[in-house]
Amino acid sequence: LNIELINTGTELLLGFVTNTNQQWLCRQLSQRGYVVTRQLAVPDTGAEIQQAVREAFTRGNLVITTGGLGPTSDDLTRECIAQLFGRPLSEDAASLAKIERFFRERNRPMPERTRLQALVPEGARVLANNNGTAPGLALELDAAAYGRTGQRGLLIMLPGPPRELEPMFLTEVVPLLLERFPPNEPFACRVLRSTGVGESAVEERIAGRLQPLVAAGLEIGYCARFGEVDVRLVARGPKADELVKQAEQTVRSLIGKHVFGCETDELPAVIIRDLTARRQTLALAESCTGGYIAHRLTNVPGASAVLTGGFVTYSNEAKQTCLGVRSETLATHGAVSEPTAREMAEGARDRLRSTYAIAVTGIAGPGGGSAEKPVGTVYMALAGNGPTLVLRQLNRYDRESFKFVTSQQALELLRRRLNDLGGNFRPL
Ligand code: ATP
Ligand code: MG
Repeated sequence: LNIELINTGTELLLGFVTNTNQQWLCRQLSQRGYVVTRQLAVPDTGAEIQQAVREAFTRGNLVITTGGLGPTSDDLTRECIAQLFGRPLSEDAASLAKIERFFRERNRPMPERTRLQALVPEGARVLANNNGTAPGLALELDAAAYGRTGQRGLLIMLPGPPRELEPMFLTEVVPLLLERFPPNEPFACRVLRSTGVGESAVEERIAGRLQPLVAAGLEIGYCARFGEVDVRLVARGPKADELVKQAEQTVRSLIGKHVFGCETDELPAVIIRDLTARRQTLALAESCTGGYIAHRLTNVPGASAVLTGGFVTYSNEAKQTCLGVRSETLATHGAVSEPTAREMAEGARDRLRSTYAIAVTGIAGPGGGSAEKPVGTVYMALAGNGPTLVLRQLNRYDRESFKFVTSQQALELLRRRLNDLGGNFRPL
């Protein structure tokens, strides 16, 4: 099976939008054993889209396009595909009804052009869009319709906005693929997500012990991001499941402490899950992360069961009035110090009556460093259920990455305590 992905949108080529659909789709597909063989981004002109699709079908039997299903004049995918394969468009009553309902429920008048989105090329199957107005489309092509002989082709058109495309792919496209292109050999994939160890350290610790499994056909991949390393275990063939299971066990036995989840788990979601199960709560006192920890936690559905609240205390005064940090502490040790972090965490915990509190205070830079506390210095504290723990880290990054890495370490501090893994872990 040859799979080609075409991302349409001039905004991608002008660099206004990052092509996250490419990454997301390739990952979702490969995790299920469908590896994309070629990917292309094209401007949203009819001629470019037609040419890209025509060429893709000279090699591939499954072509997926993204974008250009909307109602504006630059949304041409539906129309130019219909033209390319000689499939007249006609209005689909069910799609139109859904679009009308979408606007009615939001109390907004329906622009006339939106009707265009209910047009369906002859023979195409409609893929429901539960998060927007433009349905996706799946079009079966017989061998004569495109360059390849002897095989039918499938063209899938998905909308551009990720929050529409992603659920549509999972609920509509995956079942279609499994039915239309059943995997010809068993495939197993497991992604283990770790934090607190660098990429090479992970490899150093696990590669040797996995060698016998690699010899038996296991593939290992590493993917490092700020503050995280994913280990991807893949196998094909009759022993695929067994190999991946054994490999997972081995990895867990070697770096299990650092593994916070699998597949698409995110650390904040893992924390919310753990705390919810224990019926415990969390408060935050953030200085240098400016609310970023709160932001990450509140992105998780169900956060309200766990997060009582958070303070963004940037000035010394705010640290005193909101959290009860003592002025002597600030005067003697400074705002970026172990005692301040400690008092911030304990203050947040006591004032919001939560089981735990996390506090962070540091120097994001580029200015403000000193010999004793260079730019990147962060103190993070965890109060609650045991003695307050304070950790000093050096996170020397641009301000945004600094916030991410710091939030990751602070959350990891809590995960460690929740799982009795010990509080002192090596810097990332
Ligand atoms: P709409 O109805 O919103 O117009 P559409 O299916 O016509 O949807 P586009 O017009 O191509 O899709 O893109 C709409 C928006 O979706 C873009 O402005 C962009 O923010 C996002 N988007 C499009 N393509 C991608 C992509 N490949 N990766 C990430 N985001 C994308
Ligand atoms: Mg559009």
